Amino acid sequence: MIDTQQLPDNVLTTQLKKVVNWARRSSLWPMPFATACCGIELMATGASRYDIARFGAEAMRFSPRQADLMIVAGRVTIKMMPVLQHIYQQMTEPKWVISMGACASTGGVFDAYATIQGIDQFMPVDVYIPGCPPRPETLLEGVMAIQKIVDEDGLPPAGKRRPLQIAIEPSYVPSPQPVVPITLGGRGM
Ligand code: SF4
Repeated sequence: MIDTQQLPDNVLTTQLKKVVNWARRSSLWPMPFATACCGIELMATGASRYDIARFGAEAMRFSPRQADLMIVAGRVTIKMMPVLQHIYQQMTEPKWVISMGACASTGGVFDAYATIQGIDQFMPVDVYIPGCPPRPETLLEGVMAIQKIVDEDGLPPAGKRRPLQIAIEPSYVPSPQPVVPITLGGRGM
């Protein structure tokens, strides 16, 4: 694999970088990690109405070693996070990550101890897509944003990559459950 960032700049290498980046941006192979309702919108994006093939990203790969664009669509729990990290580590470099929807980016409405409150706490994210759920057009715009990143430098900017952290302990302290007084009749008041 050519690491275009290691090449010195001259007429030949800058043109080579353009060609390599053009090939990368035009053949992104997504690794879908769809856990909830956002996954349905992800599926719709691949259907004929929206036709993600126009951007060269229709070849969803379920083998991480053959994918370079992870799309996390849906909420991720603490138990799932090590699996997600494992899949991310198995993907080939250079690789990019889209966090699709409020749940993947922030935990969404699931402000609970078991739900990751934003996957970027544990893995790098290049593009965030807002919405609950985001429409397919919004996901396509996210893919175009990834293409722009690839066009600009071929790899995520230096310093942006975060080391993987291990998802083990929730930091959330749950509130105690309210206790309903029991009457003699056996029913709560
Ligand atoms: S952001 Fe909304 S649509 Fe997407 S997984 Fe969460 S609840 Fe479902």
